[in-house]
Amino acid sequence: MPDYVLPDGYTHVYSGKVRDLYEDPDGRLLFVASDRISAYDWVLPTPIPDKGRILTAMSLWWFDRLADIVPNHVISTRVPDSVARRAMVCTKLDMFPVECVARGYLTGSGLVEYQASASVCGVNLPPGLQDGSRLPKTIFTPATKAALGDHDVNVTFDEVVASIGQDEAQTLRRLTVAVYDRATAIAADRGLILADTKLEFGLRADGRTVLADEVLTPDSSRYWPADSWEPGHAQPSFDKQYVRDWLTSPASGWDRTSGEAPPPLPDEVVEKTRAKYVEAYERLTGKRFA
Ligand code: ATP
Ligand code: MG
Repeated sequence: MPDYVLPDGYTHVYSGKVRDLYEDPDGRLLFVASDRISAYDWVLPTPIPDKGRILTAMSLWWFDRLADIVPNHVISTRVPDSVARRAMVCTKLDMFPVECVARGYLTGSGLVEYQASASVCGVNLPPGLQDGSRLPKTIFTPATKAALGDHDVNVTFDEVVASIGQDEAQTLRRLTVAVYDRATAIAADRGLILADTKLEFGLRADGRTVLADEVLTPDSSRYWPADSWEPGHAQPSFDKQYVRDWLTSPASGWDRTSGEAPPPLPDEVVEKTRAKYVEAYERLTGKRFA
């Protein structure tokens, strides 16, 4: 699967849909963002060139802007040449089994739950909200991680308490909302709405709760251009819209409900999607992606 080779001394630990994890010769974690892209819970057969580098740069940029709220797992960006700029050396953490989601807008699985129960993850919401509506305040809507290829499952705060204890559950909720609120303000300055984001935390050997994984990338967060935001229908996805539109168009020949793997992406879709990732990075950070 990976399109790179690491020097001797690195042990493969885990691969998710997008990231590959290794233990480095010093017992630390090498966290590699591949160029793989997922859509509709499938890893697509065609990678997006530079995606791993762009998302890694974005995560590092955000970690810096959150460091006064919560410590993070990044130790260094000195990594083997074969994964230059798309990997980080991180502290290995004991991960909490909770996908920590904060939402300021209603969409996706939150919308589905709201329409069935007028609440999301046990948080009651006012009537009349639509797809894309802004919420009265930021809500914490945790989920449990699903097996590869499955959707995460939304859970209530009480279920998180039952799983990891009252103190840690409260800490994760407080940190998740604080990170979301900070990031929302920064994104707003760049004309972007941060509709929601998913964070992961782990426990460091010294007992501190640490922000892990990738942060605030388009893979883990929904960014919408503020100038075209309009509640009442699905907002176009900032990064994956070309991919989704093509996959669900007759041109792809793919049937989402068939259970079959999606086909390779045409060059044009790959190029346009890459450009969107570059645009997201450049817009947020104000830097050029070289
Ligand atoms: P998905 O493809 O749905 O995102 P995934 O989260 O299992 O599935 P990845 O995101 O590709 O897959 O893999 C990242 C993995 O690394 C996650 O399981 C995450 O919990 C774990 N992880 C992130 N940071 C650390 C860390 N500092 N220590 C240990 N594990 C970590
Ligand atoms: Mg993940």
